[in-house]
Amino acid sequence: MAKLDETLTMLKELTDAKGIPGNEREVREVMKKYIEPFADEISTDGLGSLIAKKVGKDGGPKIMVAGHLDEVGFMITQIDEKGFLRFQPVGGWWGQVMLAQRVTIVTKKGDVTGIIGSKPPHILTAEARKKPVEIKDMFIDIGASSREEVQEWGVRPGDMVVPYFEFTVMNNEKMLLAKAWDNRIGCAIAIDVLKQLQGVEHPNVVYGVGAVQEEVGLRGAKTATYKIQPDIGFAVDVGIAGDTPGISEKEAMSKMGKGPQVVIYDASLVAHKGLRDLVTDTADELNIPYQFESIPGGGTDAGSIHLTHNGVPALAITIATRYIHSHAAMLHRDDFENAVKLIVEVIKRLDRETVDKITFE
Ligand SMILES: [Zn+2]
Repeated sequence: MAKLDETLTMLKELTDAKGIPGNEREVREVMKKYIEPFADEISTDGLGSLIAKKVGKDGGPKIMVAGHLDEVGFMITQIDEKGFLRFQPVGGWWGQVMLAQRVTIVTKKGDVTGIIGSKPPHILTAEARKKPVEIKDMFIDIGASSREEVQEWGVRPGDMVVPYFEFTVMNNEKMLLAKAWDNRIGCAIAIDVLKQLQGVEHPNVVYGVGAVQEEVGLRGAKTATYKIQPDIGFAVDVGIAGDTPGISEKEAMSKMGKGPQVVIYDASLVAHKGLRDLVTDTADELNIPYQFESIPGGGTDAGSIHLTHNGVPALAITIATRYIHSHAAMLHRDDFENAVKLIVEVIKRLDRETVDKITFE
């Protein structure tokens, strides 16, 4: 793999870090390391969301840009007498992407490598081969031979289990393959927005946020928003790329590399019309590519942000990503960079007058 530049090094550290909902400490530390140099103040809320504040204009409108720290994974629930581990999915999983995949169990004694066990085809009947294995019947094998041995190694119910995958730059160097793009790319966008605002005049106060517990129902964004009380909220997250075989345009229209997605509708949010128009007008003016997306089944932290306090105009801006909620997902570096550029340009325009106009029109 080619030598990693500054941005790729940050993306590698963010995606390699391990953190399922409720276990975000390691990810929070990485995000903090990268965002702190560009923030005037760092804090956390009671659930552990990271909040980095950058003042452009004291008393100006408050703009929240939130990614989420957590990734989908599993939690150990039981250890059987032979040393196999039962687990609970945390976040949305499809059984077909799980069997025979390598995982890391984070214990109080350190990391333990495991694999989600599967049967070899040799012993499967023709009928069994056609049927997906149910998640409740799956187990993790860490190579232990008894419950006692598992316990000796430090594994306990409640420990998190994280997919294992190494950050990889592909042959086309714009294509990046990693675990946890959902939603470390959002954390990276929040970091780089604050970075690009260094030495730039902006008529507001910007909060770059790494929210906890998105994957179990947009929970951390609720409390972080309550603490910040923003005037405008952006959720930055992954979206669906519909550009692989078998996905029709009706299911998902977006393509990797064609610009950030402006989500007009999902199950958690109807995009705020005034904010949506400001974002697309800004992109049109500056020739920044973007694509519209609507996902009737999904949701982002914008779903929580907009329902906090008196209501907050909110929008989700997402990166078209292939294979999310599996061990490895793929996205295009240009989409990341264009998302940062677009949000920075929108922030420069969000003075009090514009925010009032958007909110009350
Ligand atoms: Zn997700």
